Amino acid sequence: MKKRRSAQPFLSVLSVLSVVLCLPLLAQEEDVRGLQGLPEVSFDNLTDKNVTTLGQAALAIRPADWKHGETANFVYHFFHGFVATPVSVEAEYYYRVVAKTLGKDTSQWERKSHIYIFENPADWAEFQKKASLDPWTGGIHSQGDLFIQRNPRYKFKGRTLGHEVTHLVIYRFFGPGVPLWLNEGYAEYASIGAYANFQRARGFAARPQSAALAQFIPVEKLAAMAVYPEQPDDIRTFYAESEKLVRFLSAENAPGFLLFMEGMSHGNRLETALQKGFGSRFASMTDLNRDFEKYAAQDFAPGAMP
Ligand SMILES: [Zn+2]
Repeated sequence: MKKRRSAQPFLSVLSVLSVVLCLPLLAQEEDVRGLQGLPEVSFDNLTDKNVTTLGQAALAIRPADWKHGETANFVYHFFHGFVATPVSVEAEYYYRVVAKTLGKDTSQWERKSHIYIFENPADWAEFQKKASLDPWTGGIHSQGDLFIQRNPRYKFKGRTLGHEVTHLVIYRFFGPGVPLWLNEGYAEYASIGAYANFQRARGFAARPQSAALAQFIPVEKLAAMAVYPEQPDDIRTFYAESEKLVRFLSAENAPGFLLFMEGMSHGNRLETALQKGFGSRFASMTDLNRDFEKYAAQDFAPGAMP
């Protein structure tokens, strides 16, 4: 894959965005990709036709209606170009920002990830059933691919895409061994920062938000959770505290955090990875819990923002 000059992708993001944002709502009824939209490519002409089993399940829903396209790092399967174009702009943006923050060189990576973009809730519900997903799932990452639902009626799509693209970058560069709390915590942390930046680049006032924790789970207990909690309140706490812990450790020492993450992805115990990333800073779990609990009680604590 070719190397790019760093300023170019950002400029092209802005130019495509300005075109997309200036389109009147009525024009959404037509195909308005135009010169700067995502070009449609027939499936057979895609440079990467690697469709997983879950991807096949997606493409089996209304099979005649799927369209296809691709950018530098992604292949897209979609129903309408005007929905897929902004997704392609965001996906490339998040991909580059998160990979850079994680210190990863993406230029040697030649395979593409596939993004399946659903629009109507009935199609998404059918896919959820096929894939045995929980009903609250707004998007999933599976084996390096993304499956998302974008409702073209809403102007602000939130940071679901940023969250899912972050999982993809983590999977691509750290493999499948990253523990659940660290994977979800980093996806929340990175998407909060990158989404605020993305909104600011479009001229919207946006500040990254990370609310104080209402409940505190001791770090060793959080880190040992291999499955999601069952109760909605506990799920919220799990995501929020995981995000805070990533934010806390990144703010403590950003390069150290990356060493810690490498260690965790290679199967290190929490204490071993902490030692690798932060030396003697956290002499014991008691020290870590004490300092982190104090930090997590603050509404917004500036850290090393992506
Ligand atoms: Zn997630």
